[in-house]
Amino acid sequence: MAFARRSLRTFGGGGVHPHDFKSFSNTAPIRNAPIPPEAVIPLQQHMGAPAQCLVEVGDTVREGMLIGKAPGVFSANVHASIPGKVKEIRDIYLATGMPSTAVVVEFQGEFERGDKGPGEWRDKDPQELLDLIRERGIVGMGGATFPTPIKFTTREGSPVETFVVNGVECEPFLTADHRLMLEKTECILEGIEIVRRILSPRSVLIGVEENKPDAIETLRGEIDRKGAEIEVVVLKTRYPQGDEKQLLKALTGREVPSGGLPLDIGAVVSNVGTVYAIYEAVALGKPLIERIVTVTGPALKNPANFKVRIGTPVGSLLEECGGFSSSPGKIVAGGPMMGFALADPGVPVVKGTSGILVLSERQSRPVLQTPCIGCGRCVAACPFGLSPTTLYKWIEHREYQEAMAAGLMDCKECGCCGYVCPAHIPLIQGMKLGKLMARKKG
Ligand code: SF4
Ligand code: SF4
Repeated sequence: MAFARRSLRTFGGGGVHPHDFKSFSNTAPIRNAPIPPEAVIPLQQHMGAPAQCLVEVGDTVREGMLIGKAPGVFSANVHASIPGKVKEIRDIYLATGMPSTAVVVEFQGEFERGDKGPGEWRDKDPQELLDLIRERGIVGMGGATFPTPIKFTTREGSPVETFVVNGVECEPFLTADHRLMLEKTECILEGIEIVRRILSPRSVLIGVEENKPDAIETLRGEIDRKGAEIEVVVLKTRYPQGDEKQLLKALTGREVPSGGLPLDIGAVVSNVGTVYAIYEAVALGKPLIERIVTVTGPALKNPANFKVRIGTPVGSLLEECGGFSSSPGKIVAGGPMMGFALADPGVPVVKGTSGILVLSERQSRPVLQTPCIGCGRCVAACPFGLSPTTLYKWIEHREYQEAMAAGLMDCKECGCCGYVCPAHIPLIQGMKLGKLMARKKG
């Protein structure tokens, strides 16, 4: 399927177009990763407060059992991803470097649950559906891990005009969403119907970039067959189009105000993986205990897309791919633009882990940083209209208030500025540090 590129939509100013490297894994069908002998399940896998631990060492847990309860709406429940015994409750570091308490479950016993048949969700009202999504721990699966029930709680008198399904997957190398759209098309469409019942949007759009022609064709075919009122919009391949603000700009031409939410322009955006998780939670009665993870990269023998139990150590997925094809330089959780370099492959897969990337030694070599030449490329590349060079200078001089006044908190850490900088200035690391320090200083 070929698209007339010039007529395809995309967002305005900024952004970059890195090589997508999707071919490492985009033809690899999703397969089940092995059940880990021990699942390390963090209680902090989402934005907001950590879940409160409900189990003790020695307790027996069933697959899907609630082991961490959300203390408020700005949090999410956590469930046992495997059956077994609670071996330990300990503090760990996540791939992001953030600390979390984790429940370590030693695999024992039988899987009782088994996927139930499609549930009778059509009899339920929007609030009941929202409660099911909350109970089953659904968060944004694109990486942000924002609790989905909050996103779906609309304001009185502000109807949702458009529900947008984000099938963009603009980070190079990642193919989990691509495979999901190809292999679980019907489930995704049913997930959309569940969300339609909750939000009653006037229209539903699925945004997909042109580099996934087979997913576009499959989605359109299934939508036609069902006669569903859903439009698949083909977008130019461009990074960071998966950011919800950029995606809304591309699809609707409207801009979410600084510090605002998509709801401010009548829109709600959910990743395609989230919609699939909603389908599983509501139609199959299954809490969020596994997710699709792309394990890929040039230094890996057999890149793959896995369905992985939450709490599985990253190292076991690398082994399942046959190990390394060459000496690895860096292992990254997420994609190359926004991911986190891993110090320890023992870290667990969590709800927000979309991919594991193994870069070669050559790709990971440190580059020589030189002084800023004032070329302005970072300014032109920033899709959020910021001046990264100015922000970086304020942060270097520990002038965090000035950096905040210049829009530091609007930085989405997309990495476009660092990607284009000829002086190899670690701009994104600077932004992260600046935000951390600004928050610390209140
Ligand atoms: S990392 Fe921040 S400053 Fe740099 S391009 Fe992205 S949004 Fe702009
Ligand atoms: S791209 Fe790099 S060298 Fe150019 S202005 Fe920005 S920080 Fe300076």
